[in-house]
Amino acid sequence: MRRIGIFGGTFDPVHIGHLRSALEVAELFRLDELRLIPSARPPHRGTPQVSAEQRLAMVELAVAGVPPLMVDDRELKRDRPSYTIDTLESLRAELGSEVQLFLLVGWDAFCGLPSWHRWEELLRHCHILVLQRPDAGNEAPEALRDLLAARTVNDPLSIEGSAGQIGFVWQTPLAVSATQIRRLRAEGRSVRYLVPDSVLAYIHAHGLYRAPN
Ligand code: ATP
Repeated sequence: MRRIGIFGGTFDPVHIGHLRSALEVAELFRLDELRLIPSARPPHRGTPQVSAEQRLAMVELAVAGVPPLMVDDRELKRDRPSYTIDTLESLRAELGSEVQLFLLVGWDAFCGLPSWHRWEELLRHCHILVLQRPDAGNEAPEALRDLLAARTVNDPLSIEGSAGQIGFVWQTPLAVSATQIRRLRAEGRSVRYLVPDSVLAYIHAHGLYRAPN
């Protein structure tokens, strides 16, 4: 069975935190592909600072020549909010039922799952890998307790079948956020080493995230 990971985000901009995390999961789970999927219109947050096309361009630069990381632009081609369930249905229509799909979500995002559009259908299409921080001590919200009890596996590396399980992946994330990068730029400071050099060059060439003079 082919194994495909999907990692959605605003990527405003993509940074080394996203990229290291994606690469580590791809290696650990021996994924054939790990698709970074920029959200055109994130339903849960304000309008991103730069256009979807520019965010996509930065992700493309970041993963160029780094298999199995790749970019999937399907959310930019849709003309409505970027719901994960739509993305999964469209991936299934394209890839068929005989591939393993792994949806990567951070613990914080996972806790907000009950507010996602048609969230109860997500596990029909994919497994969910919850990226958990070793230092996190939070409890899952009540609405997720039954689901977690029914679907969580002890060893996510042994997940079988094309969809339906939840696994926890313990990772120490790099302490980088897109918010921090935008703030540094707005203050006229450097973001070198927080993003790949190709992304840095793009940010400079297009004058992104700079405070208006
Ligand atoms: P912002 O600061 O604008 O909220 P962000 O840096 O958190 O952005 P997003 O595009 O919102 O980035 O995140 C996409 C996905 O990447 C989310 O699942 C998020 O949990 C994850 N992520 C964000 N930062 C890191 C990091 N430093 N290490 C690992 N994963 C990260």
